[in-house]
Amino acid sequence: MATAVGVDVGGTRIRAARIDAAGAVLARLEQPTAGAPELVCAQIEDLVRALDDATVDAVGIGVPGRVDIRHNRMMSGGYVDLSGIDLGNILGKTFGRPVVLDNDGNMALLAEHAVGSARSAGTAVMFTIGTGIGGAVLAEGRILRGKAAAGQLGHLTVDKNGARCLCGRRGCVETTSSGTALADHLAAAGLPTATSVDRLLEEARKGSEAARSVLDAWAGPMRFAVDTAIAALDPDVVVLGGGLGAAMHEALAEIPVEAVWYRCPVAPAMLGDRAGVIGAGLAALSRQG
Ligand SMILES: [Zn+2]
Repeated sequence: MATAVGVDVGGTRIRAARIDAAGAVLARLEQPTAGAPELVCAQIEDLVRALDDATVDAVGIGVPGRVDIRHNRMMSGGYVDLSGIDLGNILGKTFGRPVVLDNDGNMALLAEHAVGSARSAGTAVMFTIGTGIGGAVLAEGRILRGKAAAGQLGHLTVDKNGARCLCGRRGCVETTSSGTALADHLAAAGLPTATSVDRLLEEARKGSEAARSVLDAWAGPMRFAVDTAIAALDPDVVVLGGGLGAAMHEALAEIPVEAVWYRCPVAPAMLGDRAGVIGAGLAALSRQG
């Protein structure tokens, strides 16, 4: 059976896996993300090489930032910026197989649509919450592309006076509700920056105002972003993925929907933080021709 190697380049971890056409993970590897783009590129090559075998027909790479899939190139990066590197060509030459690039949020939503929480959805929205916040939109069963890079939902504005974002604007939901932002909120409240969201929820239920304030600062703006996406797209489901997707789902449950117009099921990613590699593998298998 044909397989593909899928790679998910995150700001903190790089995940890679060999995937079959049904989305099953046959082998997987994971490493902390190296710093400089050239090192990350070499790291991706090493991971693909380690998972490569005779069954592998193609390679798929999900990267943070905007990707123009028609030209198989990155237009901008996120916390990891590989946009100056012609990754598709480099890996294609090294491995002699087609290499498919796409935004990491799109890869994750492809997987959730194929075998996860958005399986029966015609229209779905995904937020991937990790070091930054990625996004993706599925409309009528296909990833919505716009001119090239639709679905950058981490850059929905939730506070016009908020912190400066990597994109150059202020108050994007990535600046309030990513993993990076959670650590900042914890530090500001005088709590250890490694405190888990489960622990915060437990402390908040026991009456801790510090824990409650961190949860409100982190998940409150996400409620605005989710409601804005629902108002714009009227999806069948909103999926929360990435390393903190399940935690955000729990935290959001404590923040009520204000407007009944914008109700929609919100689900944690069924594939958890494996959605990115599974989607990258499935995209590689379906788009290689
Ligand atoms: Zn932004």
